[in-house]
Amino acid sequence: MQKAEKETSAWTSPPPLFRRRRTRTVELGSLKIGGDHPVSLQSMTNTDTRRPDETVAQIERLAAVGCQLARIAVPDQEAARALPRIVAASPLPLVADIHFDPKLGLAAIDAGMPGLRINPGTIRDRRQRQAIARAAAAARVVVRIGINGGSLEPSILEKFGGQAGAAALVASALDHCAAFEDWGCPALKVSLKSSSVACTVEAYRRFAAATDYPLHLGLTEAGLPEAGAVKSAVALGTLLMEGIGDTIRVSLTGDPVEEIRVGRRILAAAGRRRERPDIIACPTCGRTEIDLLSLVREVDAEVRSLEEAGLRVDLDKIAVMGCIVNGPGEAGDADLGVAGGCGKGALFRNGEVVATLPWEELKERFLAEIRARASGNRRCAMEKDRPLPEATRAGETGSRPQADPAAY
Ligand code: SF4
Repeated sequence: MQKAEKETSAWTSPPPLFRRRRTRTVELGSLKIGGDHPVSLQSMTNTDTRRPDETVAQIERLAAVGCQLARIAVPDQEAARALPRIVAASPLPLVADIHFDPKLGLAAIDAGMPGLRINPGTIRDRRQRQAIARAAAAARVVVRIGINGGSLEPSILEKFGGQAGAAALVASALDHCAAFEDWGCPALKVSLKSSSVACTVEAYRRFAAATDYPLHLGLTEAGLPEAGAVKSAVALGTLLMEGIGDTIRVSLTGDPVEEIRVGRRILAAAGRRRERPDIIACPTCGRTEIDLLSLVREVDAEVRSLEEAGLRVDLDKIAVMGCIVNGPGEAGDADLGVAGGCGKGALFRNGEVVATLPWEELKERFLAEIRARASGNRRCAMEKDRPLPEATRAGETGSRPQADPAAY
């Protein structure tokens, strides 16, 4: 008996999370990245930077859903001239994304941008990179060395037989970090992006083992939301579970707000932040006798719209369950839950059944209960970054209510 219990425990406990990799800390405006600071979440605007009002409005939308750092493209001098207005109005620290023209980097530094992302593959003149490094160091601007498999410098490609694999990405990043250090610019963070999940993971692992630079995790050209979210979850989730990664950006084709939503879920699933509220739902099956899917969608939409309105839903866990099999256990374990039955369902609040109602009535009541728990300003994103308590990580949720057919 003792042996069987031990085996069961081994199968049901997830592997322990790895300790975060030790890195230096960089301060990008109000955001600290690396060291013991929580893994931060960032996105990139897709508005025209030359239109500062639209860009600031999008940054505000990103901030409302938990974004902590926004990168903006600076494609030309007109965009660079808009930066001071954007910096002044932005609720988030900003990073200027620079390619080809080093003068844009210098203009972004002059505009007060606290962060700069350069891709050395698109600014190939060493003296130009040196000028950016010196200006960034003087202004205490954090520079991301963003290595991308699609734009590696020819000398590196030649060295690695024309292959933009993990070893080539790492070699390029090491070279450029050493040069920036020589030019007096040690406030660096690094990304090594490829569109291949395996190559990206391998490159980050190798670079992480060799340096103490904070790492910006991302997968380039991840694609449309569904495919991009899955690829990003595999690549970023793998690295985060190994303790690698200090800030993440999920690249999706579309609204950048979706990037933050997906990024939050990846961080939560990897145990790097607490996602509140965690909405759980059963998959439905032949026992389901209520329209569970529409309720789950309405709950998700309600929480999103409250968040976008700047409100915080003060619930750790919401459970929407289809029947008596797992419903009472999961719904009773949540702050707020429903367990469906035959055309009706039970409403749980903090583990207690507080009402059993016809399904349509129950749906309205459930959504009203969620709205009633929304209040004030959304909790500061940094506060949400606390890792999960050990017991929760290990799936130890304490005793659960038992299924009670009488309640249905
Ligand atoms: S909770 Fe019930 S309805 Fe939902 S999947 Fe499990 S058995 Fe099916």
